[in-house]
Amino acid sequence: MTSDKEKAYRTGLSEALNAGYALLENGEAAVDAVRAAVLSLEDNILFNAGRGSVFGRDGSQEMDASIMDGKTGMAGAVAAVKNIRNPVELAYAIMTGSEHVMLNGQGAYEFAKLHGIKTEPDNYFFSEFRRNQWKQLQGTGKSALDHDVEIKDEKFGTVGAVALDKHGNIAAATSTGGMTNKQYGRIGDSPIIGAGTYANNKTCAISCTGHGEPFIRAVTAYDVSCLMEYKGLSLEEAMNVVVLDKLVKIDGEGGMIGVDAKGNAAMVFNTEGMYRGMRGSNGRNEVSIYK
Ligand code: ASP
Repeated sequence: MTSDKEKAYRTGLSEALNAGYALLENGEAAVDAVRAAVLSLEDNILFNAGRGSVFGRDGSQEMDASIMDGKTGMAGAVAAVKNIRNPVELAYAIMTGSEHVMLNGQGAYEFAKLHGIKTEPDNYFFSEFRRNQWKQLQGTGKSALDHDVEIKDEKFGTVGAVALDKHGNIAAATSTGGMTNKQYGRIGDSPIIGAGTYANNKTCAISCTGHGEPFIRAVTAYDVSCLMEYKGLSLEEAMNVVVLDKLVKIDGEGGMIGVDAKGNAAMVFNTEGMYRGMRGSNGRNEVSIYK
């Protein structure tokens, strides 16, 4: 990666951290902080979510997202939606404005329209950079999901946030364009509560990135919570077991960020790097990419 590009990614991460942190400092809820952080990353064309989503096999950009509030145990999610500017906002509207947890496709789009969620034309989501990545795979029948496929400048780019607020509540949100050249209609782990996203005040808030299929099969985010609840592991111990052992055994490349209600936070990955950042009232304020 060029140093300019690295700088741009770091700036994007800081902006997201600041967007979430500003709300927390103001005494607002963790669930609103994770929304704000994810929204900032969805609006940033560098990240594979919202505006910068990758292209699927048919050249369309279908997005997945979810959000969960650890205080109430409520959750909202969208799968394979198109033209939604901020899928995390739609997931939140489903959580707070319907009796459902997950909507997809046209029904999700209509729900968005009814609830005043912003939509955008296809060209809003277009970038030469993503199109070139797709061109590398177009017609090969392969997607970024295949282990032998290396795409220039891409591994995983899903965005996510976890937060703990002043009131002791935690929340998690995740948003993604999925994997380059994916089959249209394919849904990854990001919108699946328990796989890509999970939050429970009793244990932890987790948001994952990585190869979605193994993450779904391993019920990854919930597994961290279970290891904490049933086995008494700490957040970091549980994340290490899941990411560095269980996922590795099933070829599940990726990582996750997590926080618990006591303020412990961790970021664990089994890849070369993971774009990540952390900010807290303990004075920590950092972004990093590699190990
Ligand atoms: N987990 C996402 C998916 O499988 C991809 C990613 O994390 O970049 O859709």
